[in-house]
Amino acid sequence: MSNPSLLILPGDGIGPEVMAEVRKIIDWYGAKRDLAFDVSEDLVGGAAYDKHGTPLHDDTMAKAQTVDAVLLGAVGGPKYDNLDFSVKPERGLLRLRKEMDLFANLRPAQCFDALADFSSLKKDVVAGLDIMIVRELTSGIYFGEPRGIIEEGNERVGINTQRYTESEIDRVARSAFELAMKRGKKLCSMEKANVMESGILWREVVTEVGKEYPEVELSHMYADAGAMQLCRWPKQFDVIVTDNLFGDLLSDAAAMLTGSLGMLPSASLGQPMENGRPKALYEPVHGSAPDIAGQGKANPIACILSFAMALRYSFDMGEEADRLEKAVEQVLADGKRTADLLGEEGVTPVSTSEMGDAVVAAL
Ligand code: ATP
Ligand code: MG
Repeated sequence: MSNPSLLILPGDGIGPEVMAEVRKIIDWYGAKRDLAFDVSEDLVGGAAYDKHGTPLHDDTMAKAQTVDAVLLGAVGGPKYDNLDFSVKPERGLLRLRKEMDLFANLRPAQCFDALADFSSLKKDVVAGLDIMIVRELTSGIYFGEPRGIIEEGNERVGINTQRYTESEIDRVARSAFELAMKRGKKLCSMEKANVMESGILWREVVTEVGKEYPEVELSHMYADAGAMQLCRWPKQFDVIVTDNLFGDLLSDAAAMLTGSLGMLPSASLGQPMENGRPKALYEPVHGSAPDIAGQGKANPIACILSFAMALRYSFDMGEEADRLEKAVEQVLADGKRTADLLGEEGVTPVSTSEMGDAVVAAL
Protein backbone atom coordinates (compact mmCIF):
# COMPACT_ATOMS: atom_id res chain seq x y z
CA MET A 1 0.00 0.00 0.00
CA SER A 2 1.32 3.45 -0.82
CA ASN A 3 1.91 6.04 1.85
CA PRO A 4 -0.77 8.65 2.49
CA SER A 5 0.00 11.70 0.36
CA LEU A 6 -0.02 15.25 1.60
CA LEU A 7 0.50 18.44 -0.38
CA ILE A 8 1.79 21.30 1.76
CA LEU A 9 1.11 24.87 0.60
CA PRO A 10 2.63 27.25 3.18
CA GLY A 11 1.58 30.43 1.33
CA ASP A 12 2.27 33.92 2.68
CA GLY A 13 2.86 35.86 5.89
CA ILE A 14 2.87 33.60 8.93
CA GLY A 15 1.84 30.62 6.73
CA PRO A 16 5.42 29.36 6.23
CA GLU A 17 6.26 30.01 9.90
CA VAL A 18 3.44 27.89 11.31
CA MET A 19 3.91 25.23 8.63
CA ALA A 20 7.53 24.75 9.69
CA GLU A 21 6.20 23.58 13.07
CA VAL A 22 3.84 21.09 11.42
CA ARG A 23 6.87 19.74 9.53
CA LYS A 24 8.52 18.95 12.87
CA ILE A 25 5.42 17.00 13.87
CA ILE A 26 5.29 15.10 10.60
CA ASP A 27 8.96 14.22 11.12
CA TRP A 28 8.16 13.02 14.64
CA TYR A 29 5.42 10.71 13.32
CA GLY A 30 7.89 9.34 10.76
CA ALA A 31 10.65 8.73 13.30
CA LYS A 32 8.67 7.58 16.34
CA ARG A 33 5.45 6.10 15.01
CA ASP A 34 6.81 4.79 11.73
CA LEU A 35 4.17 6.72 9.82
CA ALA A 36 5.60 7.82 6.51
CA PHE A 37 3.71 10.44 4.54
CA ASP A 38 4.48 11.29 0.94
CA VAL A 39 4.87 15.00 1.49
CA SER A 40 5.28 17.46 -1.37
CA GLU A 41 5.42 21.22 -1.08
CA ASP A 42 4.44 24.00 -3.46
CA LEU A 43 3.56 27.68 -3.73
CA VAL A 44 0.18 29.36 -3.34
CA GLY A 45 -1.08 32.94 -3.01
CA GLY A 46 1.34 35.84 -3.18
CA ALA A 47 4.33 33.49 -3.13
CA ALA A 48 3.02 31.79 -6.30
CA TYR A 49 2.20 35.14 -7.89
CA ASP A 50 5.76 36.37 -7.29
CA LYS A 51 7.19 33.34 -9.08
CA HIS A 52 4.57 32.49 -11.72
CA GLY A 53 2.42 35.61 -12.09
CA THR A 54 -0.59 33.60 -10.89
CA PRO A 55 -1.71 32.81 -7.31
CA LEU A 56 -2.07 29.12 -8.19
CA HIS A 57 -0.08 27.41 -10.95
CA ASP A 58 -1.97 24.80 -13.03
CA ASP A 59 0.56 22.13 -12.00
CA THR A 60 -0.15 22.84 -8.33
CA MET A 61 -3.90 22.65 -8.99
CA ALA A 62 -3.45 19.30 -10.74
CA LYS A 63 -1.34 17.96 -7.87
CA ALA A 64 -3.97 19.05 -5.33
CA GLN A 65 -6.54 16.93 -7.19
CA THR A 66 -4.52 13.74 -6.78
CA VAL A 67 -3.30 13.82 -3.17
CA ASP A 68 -5.15 12.45 -0.13
CA ALA A 69 -5.05 15.84 1.57
CA VAL A 70 -3.83 19.39 1.10
CA LEU A 71 -2.55 21.39 4.08
CA LEU A 72 -2.47 25.14 3.51
CA GLY A 73 -0.97 27.91 5.67
CA ALA A 74 -2.39 31.30 4.71
CA VAL A 75 -2.46 33.62 1.71
CA GLY A 76 -2.33 37.35 1.14
CA GLY A 77 -0.69 40.45 2.52
CA PRO A 78 -0.45 44.20 2.01
CA LYS A 79 2.14 43.74 -0.75
CA TYR A 80 -0.61 42.32 -2.97
CA ASP A 81 -3.47 44.67 -2.07
CA ASN A 82 -3.36 46.60 -5.31
CA LEU A 83 -3.22 43.62 -7.66
CA ASP A 84 -6.04 42.99 -10.10
CA PHE A 85 -8.77 40.83 -8.54
CA SER A 86 -8.05 38.00 -10.99
CA VAL A 87 -4.54 37.45 -9.62
CA LYS A 88 -5.02 38.33 -5.95
CA PRO A 89 -3.54 35.75 -3.54
CA GLU A 90 -7.02 34.91 -2.24
CA ARG A 91 -7.96 33.79 -5.75
CA GLY A 92 -5.50 30.92 -5.39
CA LEU A 93 -7.37 29.61 -2.37
CA LEU A 94 -10.79 30.23 -3.95
CA ARG A 95 -9.69 28.28 -7.03
CA LEU A 96 -8.54 25.33 -4.92
CA ARG A 97 -11.87 25.29 -3.07
CA LYS A 98 -13.87 25.64 -6.27
CA GLU A 99 -12.02 23.10 -8.46
CA MET A 100 -11.68 20.52 -5.69
CA ASP A 101 -15.38 21.22 -5.10
CA LEU A 102 -14.92 21.59 -1.35
CA PHE A 103 -18.43 22.56 -0.44
CA ALA A 104 -18.43 21.84 3.30
CA ASN A 105 -16.16 23.82 5.58
CA LEU A 106 -15.90 22.33 9.08
CA ARG A 107 -14.82 24.69 11.79
CA PRO A 108 -14.74 23.30 15.30
CA ALA A 109 -14.86 25.78 18.17
CA GLN A 110 -13.51 23.90 21.11
CA CYS A 111 -12.41 25.34 24.40
CA PHE A 112 -9.28 23.88 25.93
CA ASP A 113 -9.63 23.93 29.74
CA ALA A 114 -6.34 25.74 30.15
CA LEU A 115 -7.66 28.63 28.06
CA ALA A 116 -11.15 28.97 29.53
CA ASP A 117 -9.98 31.94 31.61
CA PHE A 118 -8.66 33.67 28.58
CA SER A 119 -11.95 33.87 26.70
CA SER A 120 -13.66 37.24 26.59
CA LEU A 121 -16.68 35.47 28.06
CA LYS A 122 -17.29 34.14 31.55
CA LYS A 123 -15.61 30.84 32.27
CA ASP A 124 -18.84 28.87 32.74
CA VAL A 125 -20.05 30.07 29.33
CA VAL A 126 -17.08 28.55 27.49
CA ALA A 127 -15.63 25.78 29.70
CA GLY A 128 -16.11 22.47 27.93
CA LEU A 129 -17.45 24.12 24.79
CA ASP A 130 -17.31 21.84 21.75
CA ILE A 131 -19.34 22.95 18.76
CA MET A 132 -18.89 22.56 15.01
CA ILE A 133 -19.85 25.12 12.40
CA VAL A 134 -20.46 23.76 8.91
CA ARG A 135 -20.14 26.59 6.41
CA GLU A 136 -21.14 26.24 2.74
CA LEU A 137 -18.00 27.12 0.86
CA THR A 138 -18.36 27.07 -2.91
CA SER A 139 -21.39 29.19 -3.61
CA GLY A 140 -23.35 32.15 -2.31
CA ILE A 141 -22.46 35.79 -2.46
CA TYR A 142 -18.70 35.32 -2.88
CA PHE A 143 -19.29 33.61 -6.23
CA GLY A 144 -22.71 34.75 -7.48
CA GLU A 145 -23.08 36.54 -10.82
CA PRO A 146 -23.59 39.31 -11.75
CA ARG A 147 -20.82 40.96 -9.79
CA GLY A 148 -18.68 44.01 -10.36
CA ILE A 149 -18.55 47.75 -10.08
CA ILE A 150 -20.63 49.37 -12.83
CA GLU A 151 -21.48 52.91 -13.88
CA GLU A 152 -25.12 53.83 -13.37
CA GLY A 153 -26.13 57.35 -14.23
CA ASN A 154 -23.45 59.54 -12.72
CA GLU A 155 -22.27 57.20 -10.00
CA ARG A 156 -20.71 53.77 -9.56
CA VAL A 157 -22.54 50.77 -8.11
CA GLY A 158 -20.90 47.77 -6.40
CA ILE A 159 -22.75 44.53 -7.09
CA ASN A 160 -22.61 41.04 -5.58
CA THR A 161 -25.25 38.39 -5.91
CA GLN A 162 -26.33 35.79 -3.36
CA ARG A 163 -27.37 32.69 -5.28
CA TYR A 164 -28.00 29.15 -4.05
CA THR A 165 -29.34 26.16 -5.96
CA GLU A 166 -31.34 23.42 -4.24
CA SER A 167 -28.59 20.87 -4.84
CA GLU A 168 -25.94 23.13 -3.33
CA ILE A 169 -28.01 23.47 -0.16
CA ASP A 170 -28.92 19.79 -0.16
CA ARG A 171 -25.34 18.47 -0.18
CA VAL A 172 -24.03 20.74 2.56
CA ALA A 173 -27.12 20.01 4.66
CA ARG A 174 -26.40 16.29 4.26
CA SER A 175 -22.79 16.74 5.43
CA ALA A 176 -24.08 18.61 8.48
CA PHE A 177 -26.72 15.99 9.33
CA GLU A 178 -24.15 13.18 8.94
CA LEU A 179 -21.83 15.03 11.29
CA ALA A 180 -24.66 15.68 13.76
CA MET A 181 -25.43 11.94 13.77
CA LYS A 182 -21.84 11.27 14.92
CA ARG A 183 -22.02 13.98 17.57
CA GLY A 184 -24.83 15.31 19.77
CA LYS A 185 -27.64 14.75 17.20
CA LYS A 186 -28.55 18.42 17.28
CA LEU A 187 -28.40 20.70 14.25
CA CYS A 188 -29.21 24.39 14.01
CA SER A 189 -29.53 25.91 10.54
CA MET A 190 -28.96 29.64 10.20
CA GLU A 191 -30.04 31.98 7.39
CA LYS A 192 -32.09 35.14 7.00
CA ALA A 193 -35.31 33.76 5.57
CA ASN A 194 -37.04 36.92 6.79
CA VAL A 195 -35.26 39.13 4.24
CA MET A 196 -33.53 36.89 1.68
CA GLU A 197 -35.01 34.61 -1.01
CA SER A 198 -31.95 32.35 -0.78
CA GLY A 199 -32.71 32.08 2.94
CA ILE A 200 -36.28 30.94 2.26
CA LEU A 201 -35.03 28.21 -0.08
CA TRP A 202 -32.26 27.28 2.38
CA ARG A 203 -34.78 26.70 5.15
CA GLU A 204 -37.06 24.64 2.88
CA VAL A 205 -34.31 22.36 1.60
CA VAL A 206 -32.69 21.82 5.02
CA THR A 207 -36.12 20.93 6.45
CA GLU A 208 -36.65 18.47 3.60
CA VAL A 209 -33.26 16.76 4.09
CA GLY A 210 -33.99 16.66 7.82
CA LYS A 211 -36.90 14.26 7.21
CA GLU A 212 -34.26 11.65 6.34
CA TYR A 213 -32.61 12.20 9.73
CA PRO A 214 -35.49 11.94 12.22
CA GLU A 215 -33.03 11.29 15.06
CA VAL A 216 -31.45 14.69 14.64
CA GLU A 217 -33.17 17.54 16.44
CA LEU A 218 -33.31 20.31 13.83
CA SER A 219 -33.86 23.97 14.61
CA HIS A 220 -33.72 27.16 12.53
CA MET A 221 -32.47 30.56 13.55
CA TYR A 222 -31.99 33.88 11.80
CA ALA A 223 -28.26 34.38 11.47
CA ASP A 224 -28.22 37.68 13.37
CA ALA A 225 -30.08 36.10 16.29
CA GLY A 226 -27.69 33.16 15.95
CA ALA A 227 -24.70 35.48 16.33
CA MET A 228 -26.22 36.81 19.52
CA GLN A 229 -26.99 33.35 20.91
CA LEU A 230 -23.49 32.21 20.03
CA CYS A 231 -22.08 34.89 22.32
CA ARG A 232 -24.71 34.51 25.02
CA TRP A 233 -24.80 30.74 25.56
CA PRO A 234 -22.82 28.84 22.89
CA LYS A 235 -23.23 25.47 24.60
CA GLN A 236 -26.87 25.39 23.41
CA PHE A 237 -25.44 24.41 20.00
CA ASP A 238 -23.85 21.22 18.73
CA VAL A 239 -23.62 21.49 14.94
CA ILE A 240 -24.51 24.70 13.09
CA VAL A 241 -25.00 24.73 9.32
CA THR A 242 -25.05 27.99 7.42
CA ASP A 243 -24.18 29.65 4.13
CA ASN A 244 -20.85 31.01 2.92
CA LEU A 245 -21.18 34.63 4.06
CA PHE A 246 -22.85 34.03 7.43
CA GLY A 247 -20.52 31.10 8.07
CA ASP A 248 -17.52 33.34 7.49
CA LEU A 249 -18.72 35.78 10.15
CA LEU A 250 -20.16 33.30 12.63
CA SER A 251 -17.07 31.11 12.65
CA ASP A 252 -14.79 34.10 13.27
CA ALA A 253 -17.04 35.08 16.18
CA ALA A 254 -16.98 31.50 17.46
CA ALA A 255 -13.19 31.67 17.20
CA MET A 256 -13.05 34.32 19.86
CA LEU A 257 -15.13 32.19 22.23
CA THR A 258 -12.19 29.85 22.43
CA GLY A 259 -9.54 32.46 23.04
CA SER A 260 -7.63 33.13 19.87
CA LEU A 261 -7.80 32.87 16.13
CA GLY A 262 -4.41 31.22 16.54
CA MET A 263 -6.07 28.10 18.02
CA LEU A 264 -8.63 27.22 15.38
CA PRO A 265 -8.24 24.58 12.68
CA SER A 266 -10.56 23.91 9.78
CA ALA A 267 -11.31 21.22 7.22
CA SER A 268 -12.92 21.71 3.83
CA LEU A 269 -14.43 18.56 2.45
CA GLY A 270 -15.82 17.59 -0.95
CA GLN A 271 -17.20 14.47 -2.57
CA PRO A 272 -15.71 11.05 -1.74
CA MET A 273 -12.74 9.91 -3.88
CA GLU A 274 -12.03 6.33 -5.03
CA ASN A 275 -10.72 5.39 -1.58
CA GLY A 276 -14.05 6.48 -0.06
CA ARG A 277 -12.59 9.48 1.76
CA PRO A 278 -13.59 12.99 0.78
CA LYS A 279 -11.38 15.37 -1.13
CA ALA A 280 -9.95 17.57 1.55
CA LEU A 281 -8.09 20.74 2.29
CA TYR A 282 -7.03 21.63 5.82
CA GLU A 283 -6.04 25.09 6.94
CA PRO A 284 -5.97 27.28 10.02
CA VAL A 285 -8.92 29.66 10.27
CA HIS A 286 -6.60 32.65 10.66
CA GLY A 287 -5.14 34.60 7.76
CA SER A 288 -1.58 35.59 6.92
CA ALA A 289 -1.42 38.05 9.87
CA PRO A 290 0.92 40.54 8.20
CA ASP A 291 1.13 42.55 11.44
CA ILE A 292 3.14 39.80 13.14
CA ALA A 293 4.69 37.98 10.16
CA GLY A 294 8.43 37.32 10.31
CA GLN A 295 8.68 37.97 14.04
CA GLY A 296 8.37 34.45 15.44
CA LYS A 297 5.20 35.46 17.28
CA ALA A 298 2.60 33.40 15.40
CA ASN A 299 0.77 30.67 17.26
CA PRO A 300 1.29 27.43 15.29
CA ILE A 301 -1.46 25.50 17.11
CA ALA A 302 -4.25 26.24 14.58
CA CYS A 303 -2.10 24.77 11.83
CA ILE A 304 -1.00 21.84 14.01
CA LEU A 305 -4.66 21.07 14.86
CA SER A 306 -5.49 21.31 11.15
CA PHE A 307 -2.98 18.53 10.57
CA ALA A 308 -4.70 16.59 13.40
CA MET A 309 -7.99 16.94 11.48
CA ALA A 310 -6.20 15.59 8.37
CA LEU A 311 -5.05 12.58 10.41
CA ARG A 312 -8.66 12.00 11.47
CA TYR A 313 -10.67 12.70 8.30
CA SER A 314 -8.24 11.90 5.45
CA PHE A 315 -5.82 9.32 6.82
CA ASP A 316 -8.13 7.34 9.09
CA MET A 317 -5.71 7.83 11.97
CA GLY A 318 -8.14 8.92 14.66
CA GLU A 319 -5.92 7.66 17.49
CA GLU A 320 -2.94 9.59 16.20
CA ALA A 321 -5.15 12.68 15.91
CA ASP A 322 -6.20 12.21 19.55
CA ARG A 323 -2.53 11.86 20.50
CA LEU A 324 -1.65 15.14 18.81
CA GLU A 325 -4.62 17.00 20.32
CA LYS A 326 -3.70 15.68 23.77
CA ALA A 327 -0.13 16.87 23.28
CA VAL A 328 -1.44 20.37 22.50
CA GLU A 329 -3.66 20.25 25.57
CA GLN A 330 -0.68 19.17 27.68
CA VAL A 331 1.48 22.04 26.45
CA LEU A 332 -1.27 24.55 27.27
CA ALA A 333 -1.83 22.98 30.69
CA ASP A 334 1.91 23.39 31.32
CA GLY A 335 1.40 27.12 30.86
CA LYS A 336 3.14 27.57 27.51
CA ARG A 337 1.60 30.56 25.70
CA THR A 338 2.33 32.38 22.48
CA ALA A 339 1.69 36.13 22.68
CA ASP A 340 -1.86 35.90 21.28
CA LEU A 341 -2.84 33.72 24.27
CA LEU A 342 -1.64 36.21 26.84
CA GLY A 343 -3.93 38.84 28.23
CA GLU A 344 -2.35 39.44 31.58
CA GLU A 345 1.16 40.56 32.46
CA GLY A 346 3.80 38.48 34.11
CA VAL A 347 4.04 35.54 31.72
CA THR A 348 6.69 35.55 29.01
CA PRO A 349 5.38 34.35 25.67
CA VAL A 350 7.08 31.51 23.82
CA SER A 351 8.00 31.86 20.17
CA THR A 352 6.42 30.02 17.25
CA SER A 353 9.21 27.46 17.14
CA GLU A 354 9.34 27.03 20.92
CA MET A 355 5.63 26.19 20.83
CA GLY A 356 6.22 23.66 18.04
CA ASP A 357 9.12 22.11 19.96
CA ALA A 358 6.96 21.88 23.10
CA VAL A 359 4.24 20.00 21.22
CA VAL A 360 6.85 17.58 19.81
CA ALA A 361 8.22 17.08 23.32
CA ALA A 362 4.71 16.41 24.66
CA LEU A 363 4.15 13.85 21.88
P1 ATP B 1 -7.69 37.12 6.18
O1 ATP B 1 -8.30 38.18 5.36
O2 ATP B 1 -6.64 36.33 5.46
O3 ATP B 1 -8.70 36.29 6.91
P2 ATP B 1 -7.44 38.84 8.39
O4 ATP B 1 -6.91 40.19 8.14
O5 ATP B 1 -8.89 38.64 8.53
O6 ATP B 1 -6.84 37.88 7.29
P3 ATP B 1 -5.70 37.45 10.21
O7 ATP B 1 -4.57 37.46 9.27
O8 ATP B 1 -6.27 36.15 10.56
O9 ATP B 1 -6.88 38.35 9.73
O10 ATP B 1 -5.30 38.24 11.52
C1 ATP B 1 -6.23 38.84 12.40
C2 ATP B 1 -5.54 39.18 13.72
O11 ATP B 1 -5.28 37.99 14.45
C3 ATP B 1 -4.19 39.85 13.52
O12 ATP B 1 -3.98 40.83 14.47
C4 ATP B 1 -3.22 38.72 13.68
O13 ATP B 1 -1.97 39.12 14.13
C5 ATP B 1 -3.89 37.79 14.67
N1 ATP B 1 -3.53 36.41 14.38
C6 ATP B 1 -4.01 35.67 13.35
N2 ATP B 1 -3.45 34.45 13.34
C7 ATP B 1 -2.62 34.38 14.39
C8 ATP B 1 -1.75 33.38 14.90
N3 ATP B 1 -1.62 32.16 14.33
N4 ATP B 1 -1.02 33.67 16.00
C9 ATP B 1 -1.12 34.88 16.59
N5 ATP B 1 -1.91 35.86 16.16
C10 ATP B 1 -2.67 35.64 15.06
MG1 MG C 1 -10.53 37.04 7.95
